[in-house]
Amino acid sequence: MYHKFLPPKTPDRCGALKWPSYVLVSDRVVFPDGVRPGAVFIEGSRIVDVSEEVTVDSTAHPHVMNFKHAVISPGVIDVHIHLNEPGRVEWEAGITNGTMAAAVGGVTTVIDMPLNSDPVTTDVRQLEAKKKLAKAKAFTNIGFWAGLVPGNAANHTLLSELLAGGALGFKSFMCNSGINDFPAVEAEHIAAALPFLKSRGVPFFVHAEVVTPVEMDAVGSADPTHYTTYLATRPPKFERDAVRLLVKLLDEDSTPAAPGFSVHVAHLADGEEALEVIRDAQSRGHPLTVETCAHYLTFSAEDVPAGHTQYKCAPPLREASHRNRLISAVRSGAISLVSSDHSPAPPALKETESGNFLRAWGGISGVQYLLPATWTALWGAAAGGEGQGEGAAKEGDLLLLARVLSEGPAKLAGVAESKGRLAPGYDADLVIWEPETRANTSVSLNLHTHKLSPYTDVPLYGKVLGTIVGGELTALFGNINRRSCGKLVLSRNT
Ligand SMILES: [Zn+2]
Repeated sequence: MYHKFLPPKTPDRCGALKWPSYVLVSDRVVFPDGVRPGAVFIEGSRIVDVSEEVTVDSTAHPHVMNFKHAVISPGVIDVHIHLNEPGRVEWEAGITNGTMAAAVGGVTTVIDMPLNSDPVTTDVRQLEAKKKLAKAKAFTNIGFWAGLVPGNAANHTLLSELLAGGALGFKSFMCNSGINDFPAVEAEHIAAALPFLKSRGVPFFVHAEVVTPVEMDAVGSADPTHYTTYLATRPPKFERDAVRLLVKLLDEDSTPAAPGFSVHVAHLADGEEALEVIRDAQSRGHPLTVETCAHYLTFSAEDVPAGHTQYKCAPPLREASHRNRLISAVRSGAISLVSSDHSPAPPALKETESGNFLRAWGGISGVQYLLPATWTALWGAAAGGEGQGEGAAKEGDLLLLARVLSEGPAKLAGVAESKGRLAPGYDADLVIWEPETRANTSVSLNLHTHKLSPYTDVPLYGKVLGTIVGGELTALFGNINRRSCGKLVLSRNT
């Protein structure tokens, strides 16, 4: 009668584990208030209990996985990713490959940008089409930002329909997005949308660069395969001017802001003046939040070899002084979260043959490395080294990582009541990883559609062992579950 010990049949289990309930145990569980030995009890898609007792009653709980000294953290939530589906799957074979790479890297939820899919997501019909694809294909949970463009900024009915369709908030560009269907907004468009965004309590994600003519004399004759040539075309001033304009618009709008509203500065690269303007506005009580990306914490302009266009993004990677200030601002809480801004493109668009930085598409491919890159930058800085940690990971650093990769992103996306923490009642989105072990950054384990990435072979720490998405074991030791088990993450702001 040995069959009674086999896991019961659960046809609705989608992941690699078929148990309806199970327990994860480790010496280092990242609870919201501290890192301790403990157990996480999972039933269906939820965490039903947590305990600081590592010995689990095997009669009541027959399925226990003990990960010993590995860390169990809340799953990573990447609020800034471009999956390019529908319409540009050749850029990142869309939702399937993008979310597989994310899951292998410990990411359990991604929030997709309204571009560079084709069509872009600026009306509810386009959003519905994206939801349908995502439901069938996503290996991680997936939510959506809607586009706020000149054509809908003043039309609050259209914006309202996007929220009713489940969009978690809105994204705008203050400069050319590179996609004709997604034009930049001017101050008047932002001013027209702000009363709606504030009263509905939704985040307003902004690519904050105001592009003005720069002294291009030097650039004109400079070698376009040198990174500094590109860097000179997008000075920190662009970011600073954009943030100043956003603060001015906030100063001028008197609509009361409902909880959940923030003007969210995407991918801050300027760790100097723009960050100062943000800090000042925050100290005056403005709901201004900011993210930076793992690549701004990992690389600096000085590191970029000639012709290596995989490092091109906008705003650009700046000098090490910016990187160090960004790391400090993440540690202090002025920067509330870190994202990947995963934005790959085919080699031809990246100008890999010519190495021409001025012509190459701007966008870094890196969702698979979001966790180890962020960890390495923060841990290394804490250890006083240059991106190299020493000794065992400290409790404070593990908590900091959970704050900027899980709790902070959940708060921005308006899902902090169900995601971003290891606590009873929360979704069972978890990552099991080894902070002191090297991550594998070789091309052979890279699941991105296009392998070109500045992270290739970079010595990063933080090896992901397993990823659990909504209770479903989705990735284990670099292998991915055969079925996609991600769920849609939709706004309840309807
Ligand atoms: Zn982006």
